[in-house]
Amino acid sequence: MTKHLKRHVELERLFGADFLPIARSPAAPPPPAAPAAKPLPAPPKDSGPPSPARSEEPPYPPDFREFRREVLECTKCGLSSSRTQVVFGVGALGVPLMFVGEAPGQDEDLQGEPFVGRAGQLLTRTLKELGVERSQVYIGNILKCRPPANRTPQPDEMSACMPWLVKQIGYVKPRIICGLGNIAVQTLLNTKTGITRLRGKYAQALGVQFFPTFHPAYILRNMGELRLFKEDLRTVCKDAGLIS
Ligand code: URA
Repeated sequence: MTKHLKRHVELERLFGADFLPIARSPAAPPPPAAPAAKPLPAPPKDSGPPSPARSEEPPYPPDFREFRREVLECTKCGLSSSRTQVVFGVGALGVPLMFVGEAPGQDEDLQGEPFVGRAGQLLTRTLKELGVERSQVYIGNILKCRPPANRTPQPDEMSACMPWLVKQIGYVKPRIICGLGNIAVQTLLNTKTGITRLRGKYAQALGVQFFPTFHPAYILRNMGELRLFKEDLRTVCKDAGLIS
């Protein structure tokens, strides 16, 4: 098997495929038609409110709802003019574990929920394999709006958005924050050290126990690190008391 094909098989397995379709001889019956996975169309800017987030929203206290409303209308940086909607974050207050990623991508920008694209599905699936549901953790990002074409967040965008995250963490009060990838980890630890050296070792960020690991999008491109990513998630879930 070529390296490329092997990676493809691993990815398909990861996303739940039990078999890979192979080319059939002309005599063989055609495979049953699979429903085509249609990408969500981007709603035109003036077509009314953007599509709602997928997860059921827990009952939040009024002050948190007010805070959320304020963030959903944020115009503190230029991303407010290119986003479809603010991706606030998802989860219940008081959960023991919070994940912080970099910034919403296209799927998140369209759906209004963090980590719902392919990288997010890897995170969700890995948690599920450990016996942890998304609803048991809080998920957010350094930036709450998608940078155009998923470019790296700019320093001014991060400084504009950080106060929202700090306030959000104050409401969630997680026992552990798990930073996903270089941008989240380097920003929250105020360091230039790379994730490969930082991952798997506890530190303190914003007065909370902080555990750095790889970004799931990086794992999709570097399947050899999947084992370490799973190990890291097991560690934080266990230390947060979500699994034994
Ligand atoms: N990548 C991130 O860092 N955050 C998301 O929400 C999705 C992809």
